[in-house]
Amino acid sequence: MGELFDNYETLDPKDWQKSKALMHKMVDDAFDYTQNVRDRKIWQEMPENVLNSFKTGLPTQPSDAEDVYKELQINVLPYPMGNLHPRFWAWYMGSGTISGVMGDFWASILNPNLGGGNHAAHKVEEQVVDWIKEIVEFPKSASGLLVSGGSMANYAAMAVARNVKAGYDIRTEGLKENNLVFYGSTEIHSCNTKAVELLGLGTKGLKKIKVNDDFTINIDALKKQIQLDKEAGLRPICIIGTSGTVNTGAIDDLDAIANICKQENLWFHVDGAIGAIAMLSDIIKPQLKGIERADSVALDLHKWLHMPFEVGCVVVKDSEGHKDTFSLIPEYLEKNTRGLASGENWFSEYGLQLSRRFRALKVWMSLKEHGSERFGRMISRNVDQAYYLGALVNQHQDLELIAPIGMDIVCFRYNPGSLSLDELNALNKEIKLQIEERAIALPGYTTINGMYCIRCAISSHRVTNEDFDELVKSVFIIGKELLP
Ligand SMILES: *Cc1c(COP(=O)(O)O)cnc(C)c1O
Repeated sequence: MGELFDNYETLDPKDWQKSKALMHKMVDDAFDYTQNVRDRKIWQEMPENVLNSFKTGLPTQPSDAEDVYKELQINVLPYPMGNLHPRFWAWYMGSGTISGVMGDFWASILNPNLGGGNHAAHKVEEQVVDWIKEIVEFPKSASGLLVSGGSMANYAAMAVARNVKAGYDIRTEGLKENNLVFYGSTEIHSCNTKAVELLGLGTKGLKKIKVNDDFTINIDALKKQIQLDKEAGLRPICIIGTSGTVNTGAIDDLDAIANICKQENLWFHVDGAIGAIAMLSDIIKPQLKGIERADSVALDLHKWLHMPFEVGCVVVKDSEGHKDTFSLIPEYLEKNTRGLASGENWFSEYGLQLSRRFRALKVWMSLKEHGSERFGRMISRNVDQAYYLGALVNQHQDLELIAPIGMDIVCFRYNPGSLSLDELNALNKEIKLQIEERAIALPGYTTINGMYCIRCAISSHRVTNEDFDELVKSVFIIGKELLP
């Protein structure tokens, strides 16, 4: 009997003991890799031989798993994106947690499909979604699901907003008249624009309203635009407030937007990809007042909650409207009253995906291990660090903030005086690139009112104030080297 199975070809290890030993070694290496992240280069260019290794054709024959792992060690591990490193401040990333890794590991071992069904993984995701509702102060009756990230979360919420506010059966009819309008600020994230395009409204279906000096949406201009559009025969349906814009971390006045939505009978959606999770931080929470009045919130857990990619979440107060937007049950997905195919609300009825990975487990394990308050402290510390960096910038005559500090995002530039705008932009771009290429740190960049700036999104739970001392020192050293 045993012999029969030994010779029966499957994808399981041929030698379980050997495979287990390899996995143990990987765990040891992975812990060392994470623990010593500060000592390795934050980022480095891949040499030619490494690049060529990715051009070989389809492997048709087996290799030893040990050899495959060796290749990973040689060609992949030394060339990371860098976002585990405490000095990674580009775009907006989380830095991972070991408990998140453990969750992802078991999610892959268990390998359930979270489309639906009566099994424990489904309950884990339901519980995680309930916790997110608690965090953003939504009622328990709200619906929600985990998605790949903020882009999909915004898309799902905006689809519900469109379908509920259209006032007719848009799923059957399609758009009767292309006159529905969403509103957001000029600082709104590009994924919201992609969403209105995919929802059939075209980019013109998202009106971008000017911002104030602090990059929050100008409420008067928003009100005026809505009136003008109504007079022109358009149909305003939704306002998107951003809690933490990607450029500068600005938080729109959510309460004011909620008031307009109430008065005009509009859907209130919050793009909280960056900032909604900061409800866990005592410092930021007061600035998010009004989020609890939203009809829907999109947030990311792979940003400021540090979960390994990918995981975001959408929550919707009108759970019926949510289900009506996405539910479609053919005969092969019909539910039973008992057994595996039972259960009321399947996640596949609340989003585009049918097959879904067990994203919830890493969140469930991390929140249980650390507790939400510790995550909140990590967020608050990043905010303090943003002000620490801001103070360093203000201390030096040759440095200047280019925007007010929003949450944990600091935008500044080196300006030794007497240079033109073009020269300053070129100089700061070169400083930023050299800091990166010398593997000192990995700050981000953006351009604000025509000014190129070094942008630090400080969302690492490993970073210390000393790291910003080093950054500022490097800006001066490199800046002076580059001056004629
Ligand atoms: C990152 C971000 C998104 C997109 O989220 P993904 O997880 O990258 O899909 C949307 N909105 C804002 C404000 C963001 O910062």
